[in-house]
Amino acid sequence: MPIFEYECARCGLVSSHVVMGSSRRRERLGCPQCKSARLRRVMSSFAVVESEASRLASFDASKPRDDSYYRDSRNVGLWAKKRAKEMGVDLGSKFEATVEKARSGKLIKEMS
Ligand SMILES: [Zn+2]
Repeated sequence: MPIFEYECARCGLVSSHVVMGSSRRRERLGCPQCKSARLRRVMSSFAVVESEASRLASFDASKPRDDSYYRDSRNVGLWAKKRAKEMGVDLGSKFEATVEKARSGKLIKEMS
C-alpha cells in the first residue's frame, strides 16, 4: 500500500496519507491540522529503497543478529563486508561474486 507524505502549503504540516487507486483521488486529501487541500507531495523517508551503501552505513556489526536477520538474503555478506571495511581489507571481486551467489542460493548447491 503506497504511503505518501504531503506538506501543507498553508501551515507546513507534513502528514502521511495512504493513497489508493488513481492519482485523481488525491484531491480528496486535506491537511489534518488546518483542513487546507493545498498539499504538496514530499519524498517519504520510509518509501525510499535503501541502497547497499546506506544499508552498510546503518549496519552495526557489533550487535548480535537473530535468524530472521539472515533470512533476508540482502543481508548476506554485509557483516563480512563491514568488518573488512573497518580493518581496511579489500575483499576483492571474488568475494563479491561469492556474496552474490550466496544471496541467490547458488552457493549452497555448489558446496553440496
Ligand atoms: Zn495545514
